[in-house]
Amino acid sequence: MTDDVAPTGSTTGTGAPATSDRNSLTVGPDGPILLHDHHLIEQLAHFNRERVPERNVHAKGAGAFGVFETTQDVSVYTKAALFQPGVRTDMLARFSTVAGEQGSPDTWRDPRGFALKFYTSEGNYDLVGNNTPVFFIRDPMKFPHFIRSQKRRGGSGLRDNDMQWDFWSLNPESAHQVTWLMGDRGIPRTWRHMNGYGSHTYLWINAAGERFWVKYHFKSDQGVEHLTQAEADRLAGKDGDFHRRDLYEAIGRGEHPSWTLHVQVMAYEDAKTYRFNPFDLTKVWPHGDYPLIKVGTMTLNRNPENFFAQIEQAAFEPSAVVPGIGFSPDKMLLGRVFAYADTHRYRIGPNYQQLPVNQHRVAGATTYQFDGPMAYDHPGDAPKYAPNSHGAPYSDLTGPVEDRWDADGEMVRSSYTLHAEDDDFGQARTMVNEVFDDEARERFVQNVAGHILGGVTDETLPRVFDYWRNVDPEIGRRIEAAVVAGRGR
Ligand code: NDP
Repeated sequence: MTDDVAPTGSTTGTGAPATSDRNSLTVGPDGPILLHDHHLIEQLAHFNRERVPERNVHAKGAGAFGVFETTQDVSVYTKAALFQPGVRTDMLARFSTVAGEQGSPDTWRDPRGFALKFYTSEGNYDLVGNNTPVFFIRDPMKFPHFIRSQKRRGGSGLRDNDMQWDFWSLNPESAHQVTWLMGDRGIPRTWRHMNGYGSHTYLWINAAGERFWVKYHFKSDQGVEHLTQAEADRLAGKDGDFHRRDLYEAIGRGEHPSWTLHVQVMAYEDAKTYRFNPFDLTKVWPHGDYPLIKVGTMTLNRNPENFFAQIEQAAFEPSAVVPGIGFSPDKMLLGRVFAYADTHRYRIGPNYQQLPVNQHRVAGATTYQFDGPMAYDHPGDAPKYAPNSHGAPYSDLTGPVEDRWDADGEMVRSSYTLHAEDDDFGQARTMVNEVFDDEARERFVQNVAGHILGGVTDETLPRVFDYWRNVDPEIGRRIEAAVVAGRGR
């Protein structure tokens, strides 16, 4: 292209014709650039502001739009409009790794985020889950510490396996999730081939006001498949966007992945006497105790048109609940109910809910959120206070709330009340001994040993071996032997 090609007609941000997108304004061909070349200044200044801060966790991810259809009648458990038989609800899903930054490989071993936003007729419902039914910790006080141990060292800026094992072995409640992570499901083949779990326990309320505790399980209709560590390592070098590309291209080909939603339902009163504390995020409810009940199907059928506007600026928040769904005494959930909305206010701005991807679909809704940076939706001259004498609706519930639970006692700082079979290692032991077969168990031992050999120091190592011996003496012995053998090589 030569310099005398006719302008194609771009504009400045204010819509006026832009004079040139190729040459800045100078004093003579070799002279200095003039400050009043406001088009150049606008281009450079806007470029400097192109990125919002990446998510501190779950930075690397992608997603797609779709629909959730309730195929079964679960109205006996919840009155939520989206879970009534035959209802179809538009939705958005975002999948991600946890610790890696925006450019990090999709195939690093890590839990995957499984974040869902349902644009329901009663407001947005966000279910911000993972591809694992449990988590590393059970108290949000530990969350920043846990994440820092998984990310980079302050000094060298390097990831550090010793830091990870130091944290895990000092927090034995992590054993169940670490066992899950080092097993086959720690690296899914694709996002289409993994399950999603709400992980936390939630409250469902039916039309009669009866309450039930629930756990969500989205089972992949594509089947569950994994990558071996060797396959994942190879792909990490070859195509860091392997999972992101797979989802985008599959939907582009018209292969729309789907998941069947099931729930486990516990009677409200059972929580007090159940053999595990049902609100402890490091535990599952065994299927034998609470079988899966089918609810419906989620299908992803539309790629985003713009990654930044629709995925990067998508804001998922467990605080987005709708009538018929509430929280539970799960302390991690209660911490997240605050933290997610708060991070969006910082990362995107306080009016993030007004962006099209985050907007609810409830016509004629009144909110008393007012002004703030980038305010777009506005109430005109309607009253911005409540109550008011000008007819603007406001809420005024008094008395018991419907999504309530019993709580009593003195204020304490403490772990949960232990139920009959609660301990940190039992469910991890069940997974290793009863869920993994011989081949999966051997891959697990090699994955753990390989990770330990990736930098765990002599000071941390004895604690790490104890951790695994507590999960299971034989597994502990095998891991130690594999590490000793690896160190000898
Ligand atoms: P079940 O035999 O009924 O369930 C075991 C479950 O383990 C399977 O249904 C499957 O979950 C999951 N699973 C299979 N392979 C792997 C793997 N490589 N990594 C992680 N999970 C895997 O037994 P219980 O319900 O009595 O649970 C026994 C143990 O199974 C638990 O202690 C827990 O460690 C693990 N588990 C239990 C889950 C639950 O919600 N009950 C969920 C996942 C794991 P899925 O059906 O979701 O694909």
